[in-house]
Amino acid sequence: MKTTHNIPLLNDHHTHTSFYLALRNCLDLRNVKDLEKALNRIKELDEDVNVVLGWTFGDTAKDRIEKELPAVLICDSSLHNYIMNQKAKDKLIDEFPEIVNNIENLEWIEHNLYSIIKFIPQIKKITEKDVHEFFDYMLKENQIYKMQDLLLPNTDFIDLYEKTGYLHRVKIWIDLKSYKTLPEKYKDKIAGFKIFLDGAISPGTAAINGYVNSDFDGGIKLYTDEELKNDLKFAESEGKAVAAHALGEIVIEQLVDIIEQENIKLPCMRIEHAQYISPEVALKCKKLGIVLSMQINFSEESILFKGKLTDECLKKNNPFRMLIDQAGYIPGVDLIFSSDGMPHGAKCALQNGLFPPLESQKLTLDEFIAGYCMETKKYGSITFETENEKVIDVRTKQAN
Ligand SMILES: [Zn+2]
Repeated sequence: MKTTHNIPLLNDHHTHTSFYLALRNCLDLRNVKDLEKALNRIKELDEDVNVVLGWTFGDTAKDRIEKELPAVLICDSSLHNYIMNQKAKDKLIDEFPEIVNNIENLEWIEHNLYSIIKFIPQIKKITEKDVHEFFDYMLKENQIYKMQDLLLPNTDFIDLYEKTGYLHRVKIWIDLKSYKTLPEKYKDKIAGFKIFLDGAISPGTAAINGYVNSDFDGGIKLYTDEELKNDLKFAESEGKAVAAHALGEIVIEQLVDIIEQENIKLPCMRIEHAQYISPEVALKCKKLGIVLSMQINFSEESILFKGKLTDECLKKNNPFRMLIDQAGYIPGVDLIFSSDGMPHGAKCALQNGLFPPLESQKLTLDEFIAGYCMETKKYGSITFETENEKVIDVRTKQAN
C-alpha cells in the first residue's frame, strides 16, 4: 500500500557547505568516457587553477596532462585520488606546500582528507551567484533549509554567506588552529570548534575493534589524552562548543573519560558520527549531557562494509534503538541527524531511517522529524511516499 507523507524541510546538522559549494561548479567529467573529449573540455577552462571532478582515466594520460593542459587539479569521483600538474603546483606551492607535496600520495590523502576539504574551496573562485544557486539547489533538490558547515576553509566564506543573506541558514564550525588566528570580528559568528579524534572506516583509521584485517584493528587515535585535555580546556575558556569527530568507541571513551575527570563544562559538547558507541559509553555520554550528532545514511554501511569489518562489529553500527530506548537519548534534544553530504537530501536518510538494514537502526517518522527537520513548515515541506519498504517520490514543496 502506498502512503503519502508530508514533513518539514531538513535542518542538516553536519555537512561541508563550503566544500560542496566549491565542488558544484567544477567541471564534472563523470559521464565523459572518451579521453580525447575529456582533455578538450579541460583545455577550455581558464581559471587560475582549474578543478576537475569525476576523472575516470586513472594515470593513463599523465604526460598529456602535463604538456597540453592549463594549471589543473584533477580528481576521480571518490575524491581520494588526485593528479595535479606542474603548472598548478607552481601556483599553489607557496600557499599550500604540504598539500602540493603530498597530493598524489594515497596514504597521506587517506589520513588528511580534512585538509583536502578545506583546500579545494580555497583554490576555486566562488561568486555570489554560485552561492545563490547552491542554496537554491540544496532547497529544491535536497530539501535542506538550514545546514551546518563543519569545517570552514577561510573567512571569505563567512563574508560571502553574509553578503548573499544566507548566514542565518549556515552554522559555522572551525578547526582550533584557524580559530586562534581568526580576526576578532568573526569570532562571534563561529558556533564552535571541530576536532578530529579518529579517521574513517575505509582507510582503517576509525578507532574500532572489529576490522577483519588485523593490521588495522583499533584504528588510530589522533589525540593524546594530554592534547585533548588542553584543547577542551581552551574551548571551555573561550566559552565555545566543541564538535568532536569520533566514529569509534575507543576514542569516544577517551573523550568521555577526560570530560568526566577534568569536569569540563562547555556550552555544548557534540560527538559527530558516534557510529560505534557501546551501551555503557552511551549511558555515560547521556549523563554528561553530550549531544550525539549522527548520520542515518550510514546505517547502510552495515551492508557496504561486509568483509571490511566483522559481522559482530557491523551489528553495532548506528544503534539508534539502544540510544533511544536504553540510554534515554531524545531525538531533537540530544540526538540530532545529518547527512555529511553522503549523500545530501531526504531520500537516502528516510530510506535508512524507516527501513534500515538492521532493526536496531530503525527510527519512527516522528523521531526522524524531531532530530532532522525544521521546527515548522513555514519555510516549506517535503512530500514523499512509502510503498513496500521503499521511500519514493521525495519532493520539496516550497512555501508560498
Ligand atoms: Zn564531516
